[in-house]
Amino acid sequence: MKKFKLGLVGKTLKHSLSPTIHEFFAKSTNLSVSYELFEFEQKTDLLAWLATCGLDGFNVTIPYKETLLPELDELSETAKNCGSVNTVLLKNGKTFGENTDVFGVAKTFENIKIPKQVLLFGAGGSAKAVIFALENKVEKVFVFNRTLENALKLREQFGKIIELVLERDLENCVKNCDLIVNSTPLGMFPNIEKTPFIFRTSLAGKTVFDLVYNPQKTLFLESAECSGAKILNGLPMLIFQASKSFEIWTGKKVAETKNLQVLPEGFK
Ligand code: NAP
Repeated sequence: MKKFKLGLVGKTLKHSLSPTIHEFFAKSTNLSVSYELFEFEQKTDLLAWLATCGLDGFNVTIPYKETLLPELDELSETAKNCGSVNTVLLKNGKTFGENTDVFGVAKTFENIKIPKQVLLFGAGGSAKAVIFALENKVEKVFVFNRTLENALKLREQFGKIIELVLERDLENCVKNCDLIVNSTPLGMFPNIEKTPFIFRTSLAGKTVFDLVYNPQKTLFLESAECSGAKILNGLPMLIFQASKSFEIWTGKKVAETKNLQVLPEGFK
C-alpha cells in the first residue's frame, strides 16, 4: 500500500493540531500516512527543502501562506483570489497550490444562520476566506481592521459588499449585525489576554465566531457568551479545511465532513 508522505511547513509549529487531525483521517480512510512538522526560519530555507523534500503534499501556515504562492507551478482560482495557499500538492515534479480555508469557513457557515449583515474583525488572508464564503449570501460585510489601508484593499477586491468601520462606530455595528467574526490572531495562545473587542451590550440571538481555536474559548468568545451570544471557535473550520487538504493529497474523501461531528451542540 502506498504511504502518503505529508506535513506542515511554518515557523513555529509545536502546538499544531494538524498531525492529530491527519492521523485521525488516515485511520478513518484506512490509508497509510505520515504527517510531520517542518519549521523554517526563512523562506530561502523552505525553498531549498521544497526542491528535495520527497513529500506528496503539505500544509502551509504563518508566515509562508502568502510568500510561498509565487513560487508554485500552478494555483487554484481560490488560491489566486485569496492571495495565499495553505495546501500544496506535489505531483509529477510539479507543485500545485490551493487554499482550503475557504472550504473550511463555507462548511462551518452551513451550520450557522447567515444574516444580511456581518461584522468582521481583520482584513488578512483568513478574512478573505470568510468573505468568499459569505459573498453570495449577505448584503454587507462590515470590516474593522487595525490598518485601514489593508481594509481598503479588501474593499477594492470585493467591492460594495464591504463597508469599512471606524472604531467609534463599532458598538453600533455590533447592534446591527447578527453574525460577528474575528479573523485576527488577537487572543491566540500565548497572548490570551488580547481581544479585538469586549462586548458590553446584549448579544441575544447573535452568533459570534472566532477563527482562533487555541484557546478554545478566547476572551472574545468569553465576552460574547457572557453577553448572551451563541459562540463558535475555529476548531470545526480547522478540521473542515484539513479534510479538504487530505482529499487533495490522497484522492480520498474523509467521511462526509458533515458527519465529522466537529460542531458543538446547537450548531448541527
Ligand atoms: P494574516 O493574514 O496575518 O491577517 C491577520 C489580520 O489580523 C490582519 O488584518 C491584521 O491587521 C490583524 N492583526 C494582526 N495582529 C494584530 C494586532 N496585534 N492588533 C490588531 N489587529 C491585528 O493572518 P490570517 O491568516 O488571516 O490568520 C488570522 C487568524 O486566524 C490566526 O489566529 C490564525 O491562526 C487563524 N486562522 C484559523 C484558521 C482555522 O482553520 N480555524 C484558518 C486560518 C487562520 P493588519 O492589517 O493591521 O496587519
